[in-house]
Amino acid sequence: MRTDPNAAKKQEGISFILIDDFQAKGIKVDPIITLAGDHEVNQVFFDDVRVPKKNRVGAENNGWTVAKYLLEFERGGAAHGANLRNALNKLRVVAGTEHAGDGSKLIDDPAFRRKLDETEVEVTAVEFTEHRIMSQLSNGQNPGAAASIIKLRGADTNQKITELGVEAIAYYVQPDVIEARTWGANVPPVGPDHTLMVMPKYLNTRAQTIFGGSNEVQRNIMAKAVLGL
Ligand SMILES: Cc1cc2nc3c(=O)[nH]c(=O)nc-3n(C[C@H](O)[C@H](O)[C@H](O)COP(=O)(O)OP(=O)(O)OC[C@H]3O[C@@H](n4cnc5c(N)ncnc54)[C@H](O)[C@@H]3O)c2cc1C
Repeated sequence: MRTDPNAAKKQEGISFILIDDFQAKGIKVDPIITLAGDHEVNQVFFDDVRVPKKNRVGAENNGWTVAKYLLEFERGGAAHGANLRNALNKLRVVAGTEHAGDGSKLIDDPAFRRKLDETEVEVTAVEFTEHRIMSQLSNGQNPGAAASIIKLRGADTNQKITELGVEAIAYYVQPDVIEARTWGANVPPVGPDHTLMVMPKYLNTRAQTIFGGSNEVQRNIMAKAVLGL
């Protein structure tokens, strides 16, 4: 929250405060339904909410420094190479059942295979960067600018995998059977089971290059902190 409206720079004059009671007077939570039709995010309003001063983290007006420290860990843990590897492996299985334009198996299509292999290289690079960050953490260091590298490459690679998923299942991306996506639903998807979540995942991952700091912002951090530009 802004605690000094006259601060010279916009990053200054902000204080970081924890709100313990989400039911507190003045807090309003409005759901945001995503492009995929899911309720995963909310818009939260704070109107004259009273919070004890002892809930402040760090010094008054120093909240941006606290937030940046927190973001380093949010971004540094954002990629999950194992998830990317798992998604890519599943995609290879799907490509073994779906067909290319000439009726052959998609996995035998050289152009699609090349895309899968290129993406595999990217996944491996994300995994290695993640291992580097884990090693830094286990030595008591922070992720530092590597957090921006992993956030950017992880988000781009995940988007790429979901794009290839859309390409693989072709026309099955069109029917949106949201009822079939509910736990315990007794509604069959249109098409094979593996097609059900492809489009929602594709839509959901569009936000990944925005949340936690957009790609452009990560590139700015790398330009300054890594390349010294
Ligand atoms: C699905 C989703 C979930 C989210 N979850 C959370 C959450 O849990 N908690 C939370 O606090 N926030 C959350 N966010 C907010 C998210 O962190 C912001 O949307 C994001 O950081 C971008 O900020 P902004 O929306 O203010 O865009 P802006 O900063 O206004 O950016 C608009 C555009 O300008 C570009 N841009 C901005 N500054 C620069 C610059 N200096 N140089 C070059 N380009 C620039 C951006 O890349 C972007 O394309 C979420 C957002 C989404 C979409």
